[in-house]
Amino acid sequence: MSQAVHLATPPSLHFPELAKLLGDRYTENNFERAFYRRDLAFVPPILEMVLARTLPQCVARPRDADEVAALVRGARTHQLAITPRAAATTVYWNSVPTRAGIVIDLNALRGIVSVNAENLTATVLPATRWGELDAALRRRGLATRTYPTSAPSATVGGWVSMEGFGIGSLQFGGLAQQLIALDVVLPDGRAHHATRDSDPPLSWFLGSEGTLGIITAIELAIRRAPEKTGKHLVALRDLVAVQNVARALAQSAPTPYNLHFSDAAHLRLLRAAGFAPPTEQAMLLITYEGDANHIAAGAQNVYAIAQKFGGEILPDDLAAREWGERFAALRVKRAGPTVLGSETWLRADRLAEYGADVAHLANRQRVTLATYGTLVTQDEFTVMTVYPSDESRQLAYIFDLSLTKQLYDLAFRRGGRPYGIGFWNAPYRHRAMPAHELAERRARKRQLDPTNGMNPDKIFVASPILSPLIFSLGMNALAWARRVGGAWR
Ligand SMILES: Cc1cc2nc3c(=O)[nH]c(=O)nc-3n(C[C@H](O)[C@H](O)[C@H](O)COP(=O)(O)OP(=O)(O)OC[C@H]3O[C@@H](n4cnc5c(N)ncnc54)[C@H](O)[C@@H]3O)c2cc1C
Repeated sequence: MSQAVHLATPPSLHFPELAKLLGDRYTENNFERAFYRRDLAFVPPILEMVLARTLPQCVARPRDADEVAALVRGARTHQLAITPRAAATTVYWNSVPTRAGIVIDLNALRGIVSVNAENLTATVLPATRWGELDAALRRRGLATRTYPTSAPSATVGGWVSMEGFGIGSLQFGGLAQQLIALDVVLPDGRAHHATRDSDPPLSWFLGSEGTLGIITAIELAIRRAPEKTGKHLVALRDLVAVQNVARALAQSAPTPYNLHFSDAAHLRLLRAAGFAPPTEQAMLLITYEGDANHIAAGAQNVYAIAQKFGGEILPDDLAAREWGERFAALRVKRAGPTVLGSETWLRADRLAEYGADVAHLANRQRVTLATYGTLVTQDEFTVMTVYPSDESRQLAYIFDLSLTKQLYDLAFRRGGRPYGIGFWNAPYRHRAMPAHELAERRARKRQLDPTNGMNPDKIFVASPILSPLIFSLGMNALAWARRVGGAWR
């Protein structure tokens, strides 16, 4: 970028001072801004029009923390709402503007700053992809401890800002346990180095979905690359068996690196999408990472526990294939052309009950509901239940959206809660966390962002239409209409 670009700011810009900060990495162009109106989920334009102003007034792409701080201060001067955005692989409008304002696109803050192979730590810029971080570390005999199944695209800063559970969490814990320090630009533009003991501490920013500041660097614990990965695929009769085998394996030593299940409906949906799933039953993919003894001990546990619960061990090449496809969750979309769904935390001993409720709903609503998930702690799964829809048929699509609320209700009934809140799950915020946690989060927001300029309407505040009561009544009415009016859909 040349100096001349900085100076030659077109007079027609609404915020020329912001443009001066970044030159051609700042835009108010209609075409360029339009790309920032959505994330991975399609939202019908009518809902978008009623609920939010998703078209940002401007987009800026800073290259370092100083530029981020200058933009945040500039946005405050103009009272522009700020939406931090990285890879936008989320689906709840977490990184989509709802009050126009400025999108701060963080994708130029990308790369590894340093690696300490002795202390097993790394410092990275926030838009570094998990996949590229792990690949770079493996070239040095190191590895990330955990990563999301969206690792090829998802960024380190994005996952810190969400809840941070995924592949490897069963063995190594959530991302919270791996973070050492964060550099954050606070909503007033100050730079803050957050650690466990700082004020505010690092924990405030975890899962805060960009509402408390912009993370500009992350220091985290890594590991030596495992010697081996042992993979096992077990076909099981149903989710009762999946629940039993998963819990027994999680409680035995060594702890598996990862445990991922699919129910039979998910495998049928994959078949409908043109793939060849390994079994007609439910299945559990178990992975161990470590040295040869660790892998061998894990294999023995799998054989013993699978046998006890009537499981069939499938051939090694199928297990290797499934592990190789761990990043391809969205391939089921081919059965759609759109897929909708819910993602929830569920206690491990409630999975089968939830599965039975889901089967009942599928029957009542005459829809395929496909469930899969990961055991991310000894006691909890994160569970996705997805169903095919078609965004090009907008009326039917709006009716289909109501099923997501029905799925959340089933999870709540079994003690579960949504995973990730953003805008669309904000009506559930009172059920997504205990009252004292919600109050604590509100207090942090008031303290750090009293003018509510940093990613407003995410987690805390939502449009009146999304107030819990109105949302619930509306969605239940749509679900009822979808069921009785099924014939005309
Ligand atoms: C196929 C698939 C698999 C997935 N698997 C997982 C999984 O295993 N585990 C899981 O937790 N999620 C998963 N996700 C959801 C999502 O990919 C992750 O939460 C991911 O970490 C989001 O990162 P991102 O870079 O896309 O963030 P974005 O979507 O761009 O942003 C997410 C939130 O973080 C904020 N944000 C982003 N960067 C910053 C920053 N530097 N500072 C402050 N705020 C910031 C945004 O404002 C927004 O609120 C999956 C999604 C898909 C599509």
